[in-house]
Amino acid sequence: MKAIRRFSVHPVLPEPLRPLSELAHNLRWSWHPPTRRFFRDLAPGAWRDAGGDPLRMLCALPPSKLAQLASDRAFLRRLAVAEGDLHDALNEPRWYQREAADTSADLPRAVAYFSPEFGITGALPQYSGGLGILAGDHLKAAGDLGVPLIGVGLLYRHGYFRQSLSRDGAQREDYPEIDPAELPLRLLREADGMPVTITLRLPVGRSLHAHVWQARVGRVPLLLLDSAVRANAEAERHVTDRLYGGGGEHRLLQEMLLGIGGVRAVRAYCRRTGHPEPEVFHTNEGHAGFLGLERIRELGERGLEFDAALESVRAGNLFTTHTPVPAGIDRFETSLIASHFGDEGELEGVAVDDVLRLGAESYPGGDPGLFNMAVMGLRLAQRANGVSTLHGDVSRTMFAGLWPGFDPAEVPITSVTNGVHAPTWRSPRMPADADTLPDGELWALRRTLREQLVRDVRKRLRASWRERGAADAELDWTDGVFDPDVLTIGFARRVPSYKRLTLMLRDPERLTRLLLHPERPVQIVVAGKAHPADEGGKRLIQELVGFADDPRVRHRIVFLPDYGMDMAQTLYPGCDVWLNNPLRPLEACGTSGMKAALNGCLNLSVRDGWWDEWFDADFGWAVPSADGDAAGDEDRRDHVEASALYALLEDEVAPCFYERGAGEVPVRWVEMVRRTLARLGPRVQAERMVREYVERLYAPAARSHRELSDEAAARELGAWKARVRAAWPSVSVEPVEHGTQEGPAAHGSPGGDDTGADDGGRGPAGLWLGADLTLRARVALGGLSPEDVEVQAVAGPVDGTDRIVGGDVTRVPLKPVTTAGGGPDLDGSWMYEGTVTPGSAGPFGYTVRVLPAHRSLASGAELGLAAVPSDPGDVSG
Ligand SMILES: *Cc1c(COP(=O)(O)O)cnc(C)c1O
Repeated sequence: MKAIRRFSVHPVLPEPLRPLSELAHNLRWSWHPPTRRFFRDLAPGAWRDAGGDPLRMLCALPPSKLAQLASDRAFLRRLAVAEGDLHDALNEPRWYQREAADTSADLPRAVAYFSPEFGITGALPQYSGGLGILAGDHLKAAGDLGVPLIGVGLLYRHGYFRQSLSRDGAQREDYPEIDPAELPLRLLREADGMPVTITLRLPVGRSLHAHVWQARVGRVPLLLLDSAVRANAEAERHVTDRLYGGGGEHRLLQEMLLGIGGVRAVRAYCRRTGHPEPEVFHTNEGHAGFLGLERIRELGERGLEFDAALESVRAGNLFTTHTPVPAGIDRFETSLIASHFGDEGELEGVAVDDVLRLGAESYPGGDPGLFNMAVMGLRLAQRANGVSTLHGDVSRTMFAGLWPGFDPAEVPITSVTNGVHAPTWRSPRMPADADTLPDGELWALRRTLREQLVRDVRKRLRASWRERGAADAELDWTDGVFDPDVLTIGFARRVPSYKRLTLMLRDPERLTRLLLHPERPVQIVVAGKAHPADEGGKRLIQELVGFADDPRVRHRIVFLPDYGMDMAQTLYPGCDVWLNNPLRPLEACGTSGMKAALNGCLNLSVRDGWWDEWFDADFGWAVPSADGDAAGDEDRRDHVEASALYALLEDEVAPCFYERGAGEVPVRWVEMVRRTLARLGPRVQAERMVREYVERLYAPAARSHRELSDEAAARELGAWKARVRAAWPSVSVEPVEHGTQEGPAAHGSPGGDDTGADDGGRGPAGLWLGADLTLRARVALGGLSPEDVEVQAVAGPVDGTDRIVGGDVTRVPLKPVTTAGGGPDLDGSWMYEGTVTPGSAGPFGYTVRVLPAHRSLASGAELGLAAVPSDPGDVSG
């Protein structure tokens, strides 16, 4: 019989046990082994049944057990200790408080961090993959460092999806519904006890309402907006049903709720709790980009015009891009945006044309019919970054169209390489100083971790086969799957095509020989979910499962369904080698290999993302990438890279693992494990990442924000930009004269028969290294004044096409040469002057350009405006 109403009935904790609720609600338990042990010891059986989730366990305990605990003096003493420890962890000063005490550091009073997904623990399934886990790790590490962050996201009633396999190995998806009342969440309420309600206005009289759930992630609050509320009409209740579920309007409403509703939720939270208002707004990928528009609307309500409000908002906004794949960027039909931000929709007081302009792909190759969330994100943020050094390069090229007139290298997108939260991802069995253990002990520890994985693999494989319809009696073979002494390789991640799940199947016979090698076998564990709409990805999974089902190899290769944080936490530590073979450079960073490294697992990966910058033969192996020569021919490229992968496994990885020294210890291998733990371990941590964000991005953004939260300053900057843009078509820089320091032709020039400046602007063919070159340029400012611009000589080594290249480029500001009256020449132009000095021998060149200059700009490229001399044709001497 089906119930017509459903309630969650909660236990009433006896007064002495009240602190248990706090301990279970703060998700710190998920990365704090002592708290987990405390809960486990309280009722080991119930702990196991609850899957290690304290709140679920408490809800399942019978009242008699609770009554018994409430009068158990020894237990209450331990509870008081655990409570005191949590209190200390939440309140004691940390790194950020020490940094902030140095007033010159100028750190933000608070930072709001927006993300469409958060992976905190398997108990709160609100993530699909790396982006969400990174967001979770960012919150956790920020809390550990004492950074006053507020996380903002959505609460999806069905999360992403649960993956299982059909009998014939096809991915199946189901969407179990979560009940927030059963999760470690609390409603944000008004003083009168009513839930805080966020409301968005939708076209033609509809409304979207949401409640705000709070999770506690250590010191950091996480606000999750939930549209499944009674006040909504049926359709709007489903806005937050699934993560990355629908497209079109469904996706747009999710993103409006996240961005616009998210800012309103932050305001309500600060009002209710007294938390300081954020000075910096950080958006993790473009999905939350509407937050900038909502802040413009807020300022408009206070009387600030659009241009000024835009400057004020940009100053404190940081945009982090995560995808080097243009198809991975969210884009909406322009008409859909127009209807939702028009007169009937949201953002009262903000003109819809201003909104549309921010997301317009107004550059060569752009689509006028589409509104691009990444483009809007970049226009609404004064600072932006990619997530590894290589991804920074790729992003600068990918978005270069927004900064015409600048080389990709000058595009103002920096990079902060991702990191992972060590307390979450380092096995509790792995001491932080494991690199100092003697060889034998370190190797024994690695074996223990592998053995734990083997047990987990067998358990999960049996459960999967049960779901695939097999009877227990047919499944005895699963107890013999995997061997705790065999070289174990892991490959687990989402299944978009660029990650190439099935590259290892390129030559099935060669893979089979590797798996079944008589002396040096390998075993491979594979996992990953394909997006429900990605038929190609699902075919790859079925292909892999088909291979792994073969009785010849099924004891050496497995596909485990429903990859998630719980599986990952056993998987990374238990593997010896973490394999990653993306199509370079499409992996923005990748973090699973970092989590593996924290546990002494070696990496075997294409040099993409983080592995491109930190690869070292001490830490693993680089699969050569054929992205140069075979570019464009993916089949050939797969063939070349798969062959290289097999060869590495056969000739290097397996021999190294099986080469045993004294006490059966593989000495070379253990040395690599040790170096990985000692030298790579510290770099891959999220604490390093969050400190970089604070020092390089949050602190400067907070300074800019403070400067431009002054309305007059914001108006002045907005008006200045408009004036510069209007004048720019008449700004020009004309052919330049130069001479060597002793004056033109004083000693002749070393390499040629040309002699200095009076040769019609052509340079001398040669220069002595170390000699200064004096430049003069005539600059028309089109009504701007010298204070509005910087006239810059750009000089350095040139390539065969006269492009100034390499890291040795110098940029030298030139100074206006004032006439007797202190102004421009009679024709209104200015003469600028300065010197450059070649820093190395070889081909050298210079040019002169004019850039807008204002103390509130974060970069000379910010406006995308640069005036350069008209093409001089052949510039050689
Ligand atoms: C770390 C992690 C990811 C990200 O893996 P990549 O290899 O960086 O794509 C995805 N899913 C889970 C469960 C993870 O823990």
